Amino acid sequence: MEKLKKWPLWPALVNAKCPRCRRGDMFANQMYGFHGQVMLKKCSHCDLTYEIEPGYFYVAMLISYAMNVAEMVTLAVAISVLTGSQNPWLYVIIILSIALMLSPFNFRYSRIILLYWLTPGLSYRPEMSADNWLQHDSNIARS
Ligand SMILES: [Zn+2]
Repeated sequence: MEKLKKWPLWPALVNAKCPRCRRGDMFANQMYGFHGQVMLKKCSHCDLTYEIEPGYFYVAMLISYAMNVAEMVTLAVAISVLTGSQNPWLYVIIILSIALMLSPFNFRYSRIILLYWLTPGLSYRPEMSADNWLQHDSNIARS
């Protein structure tokens, strides 16, 4: 029997690969672009449907909210430490503009965090990251 090649977690997570096989892409385009975020319906490698049930990604909004709060608090502390300013407009302008710039990042990684760590029953399956997984699967179904 051939030895299974394990695909490491962090490169797969950072590059938005499928949480089950760590091979197929989750998004059809780049994080920053003029066409917004286009999430694929299924993994091209293992055929996993990303939206497990209708409305599943509403949960990702809560994760995105938590990420936003963490980013804003970090920015407020950083502005206070770096400038020592008491002017609220300095905080408002910097925090809102950076939050706006980070919104595609939050959208994408809130869904990735949801699928990688917060979805029960969905975990990495090394046998599915094999090069010929779908071929292998259909061979089993035929025999
Ligand atoms: Zn997959």
